[in-house]
Amino acid sequence: MKIPTQLTLLKSSFTLKHKPFFSLSFGLLLLVFAFYSNAEEPMFEIPSDALETARELRDEGLKSSHAYSIVKGLTTEVGPRFAGTEQDKRAQEWGVELLTELGFANVRIEEFPLNLWTRGNPGDEVVEISSPFPQPLVALSLGGSAATPEGGIEAEVVFFSNFDALESFDASEDSLSGKIVYVNDRMIAAQTAEGYSPANRKRLNAWRLAEDRGAVGVLIRSVGTSNNRFPHAGVMRIPEDRSPKIPAMALSAPDADQLERINAMGETMKVKMQTYAGYRGEVTSGNVIGEIVGSEAPEEIVVIGGHLDTWDNSTGALDDASGIGITVAAAKQILDLPEAPRRTIRVILWGAEEVGLIGARAYAAAREKDGTLANHVIGSESDLGAAPVWRYRTNVAESALPAMAAVARELAPLGILHGNNESSGGPDIFPLKEKGMPVARLEQQGMKMFEFHHTPNDTLDKVVSSELAQNQAAWALWTYLMAELDVDFRGK
Ligand SMILES: [Zn+2]
Repeated sequence: MKIPTQLTLLKSSFTLKHKPFFSLSFGLLLLVFAFYSNAEEPMFEIPSDALETARELRDEGLKSSHAYSIVKGLTTEVGPRFAGTEQDKRAQEWGVELLTELGFANVRIEEFPLNLWTRGNPGDEVVEISSPFPQPLVALSLGGSAATPEGGIEAEVVFFSNFDALESFDASEDSLSGKIVYVNDRMIAAQTAEGYSPANRKRLNAWRLAEDRGAVGVLIRSVGTSNNRFPHAGVMRIPEDRSPKIPAMALSAPDADQLERINAMGETMKVKMQTYAGYRGEVTSGNVIGEIVGSEAPEEIVVIGGHLDTWDNSTGALDDASGIGITVAAAKQILDLPEAPRRTIRVILWGAEEVGLIGARAYAAAREKDGTLANHVIGSESDLGAAPVWRYRTNVAESALPAMAAVARELAPLGILHGNNESSGGPDIFPLKEKGMPVARLEQQGMKMFEFHHTPNDTLDKVVSSELAQNQAAWALWTYLMAELDVDFRGK
């Protein structure tokens, strides 16, 4: 009894003594805040007709299962669609048929050349520990890897805990002569997916650092967050003036753990590697394009889409059939309006994203050539799977920020936060962004994506129709407003 009484007394005396002070200072703070926020960001009001249409699109989108049915179609009727293969051609035909049937205008394939890389027969890829504890490991070649010499290679492993350790390792040439380099970085799962870039440095660059120091092969822990026993595919960064001469392969996470344990025992480890991977010569791939032609400013273009290609080991339900399902279904809602919005909406099913944004770079180069690059008023890509959108970020001229804040207020009922003005826009948007196009991104929750990313486990059962519908609703509202509002995101 005694203690609670004391606590009550203490609490009431604190409240009595400090309340007026707190209320006054809090009130002042609010006033100051209100003054500054008003001064810096005048309210932008979306015209009432556009606002009504945007809200209808959003609410209809939430009830739709169209995005899901598109994802189901692409993953079932085409399956894996690795850039430059026959499967890629089938995916392009599927895309043309889809956009044509839905009634989009100017449906076409814009072709571009591609140096085809393949791993050979997946079953021919071998990684095994030959000593001290001989056993097979589960691995696959990274995109761009060279083949091993006939019969494979066997060499001692030099273990690097992370990419930084490899990068700062004795810079003298040939210091890893005759060795196999292993890099162990783990990827950190995060809502923002920001663990991907740091973990991915080893996939992109380890081959080059290892090769320059005389190594005969490279192994990495897969870039991903799954502990399942499959490796994650992915491309390496290859400068234009050289191509890899050594094999580079990714181990599944449990196999990487195995190497880590043996290394911790202080044992010298030898590994065998065999792969027939390599470049096969020039082939053709393509971007599939369809449009809703603008009613007032048809020359001005809003670019949306996802990428059509996948890794060879995956049906790519999340990466990126979902991006295609979401953006095509959202655009179809706008196509069905009685009147098209002011600007043209160009839906692009990007080709050859996985092997280095080849389709996106070809598109940007072609627009520079035909003089329409400056007409691209804003662009975005959906390419982080099928989870709900949680944040909206932009990268537009300062003068367009009040309009973007108004758009964000209409996204908020979908559970979407308004982030900063430093968005990347999405991978296939980079080449256009680099040339000055404003961008934005409806960012999806990233915690789970890298459990499935670039693996055979990226399949339709991971996609939840209602979550795709939330994406579709956000994209329908956003795309419509970008095409309809009389705002120049470029600040002209
Ligand atoms: Zn992707």
